[in-house]
Amino acid sequence: MATHVIGVVGAGQMGAGIAQVAAQAGIEAILVDVDLARAEAGRKGIDKRLARSVEKGKMTAEERDAVLGRIRAAGAIAALASADFVVEAVSEDEKLKARILTDLDKTCRPDVILATNTSSIPITRLGALTSRPDRVIGMHFMNPVPVMELVEVIRGLATSDETHHATVELARRMGKKTVVARDMPGFIVNRVLMPMINEAVVALYEGIGSVEDIDVAMKLGTNQPMGPLTLADFIGLDTCLAIMEVLHHGTGDTKYRPCALLRQYVEAGWLGRKTGRGFYKYEG
Ligand code: NAD
Repeated sequence: MATHVIGVVGAGQMGAGIAQVAAQAGIEAILVDVDLARAEAGRKGIDKRLARSVEKGKMTAEERDAVLGRIRAAGAIAALASADFVVEAVSEDEKLKARILTDLDKTCRPDVILATNTSSIPITRLGALTSRPDRVIGMHFMNPVPVMELVEVIRGLATSDETHHATVELARRMGKKTVVARDMPGFIVNRVLMPMINEAVVALYEGIGSVEDIDVAMKLGTNQPMGPLTLADFIGLDTCLAIMEVLHHGTGDTKYRPCALLRQYVEAGWLGRKTGRGFYKYEG
């Protein structure tokens, strides 16, 4: 059935972005986090981003009001009983995602597709925890969601063709291009990207170059829009570490071992932009 109401669980960087692009595409969005205050904080972040778009003349004030009017914040998954399609975007922690998926399975109508924005956890494993593995799929948005064009769609072993087509269709409605990846550790994007970021941290750890020189080298030397350490700060170092752990455990191959320095930064709470400090320091 057509998606009129999308549920998004997790109002962090990704969840808020997903709710925003859905609302911009005319879809009602219910944005859920652990409590109402955090969900409201996600909605406030969207408000700020939209205000900048209005200032830059990319959007009118009326359009902004209409988009915001389509986003409702909620403090519990029970609010998603009316959703037609759900994307979960909670932190990259398998136990947490497993709990969210089983809660969604109990709350949402049986015809509702449960998509996960996981960067690396097997879709097949998450799907098997529900009574509807045919309606569980990976819908991997890129960061920042309003800017990045790609959605990687990942089919679990049991995902149906119908679910696949509905997900691709929704991503297109949200203005995104899709690629299909097999349900293997890291899918396409992170299977290639994360080892590069991890290697940049190794290069820093071994003193091969400074933070700035590693980034400038990769930016100017390989024509990337930003250096790997800047990108890691942007993604979140906790997310980078979690993905490397999945690649490492999922393949059993030591070439994916996370760098000790990456682990230490995460232990220090230096998670990148979102905490104000990662490989760089951020203000405000
Ligand atoms: P984030 O830390 O910004 O947000 C996670 C949110 O989940 C937080 O607001 C947190 O309060 C919420 N949350 C935690 N437990 C919850 C619960 N029980 N119920 C409801 N909400 C809960 O993280 P993020 O960067 O937005 O990442 C979210 C997901 O998106 C992860 O699976 C990550 O791998 C994936 N992802 C991230 C990126 C990226 O670049 N950051 C890119 C693609 C995919």
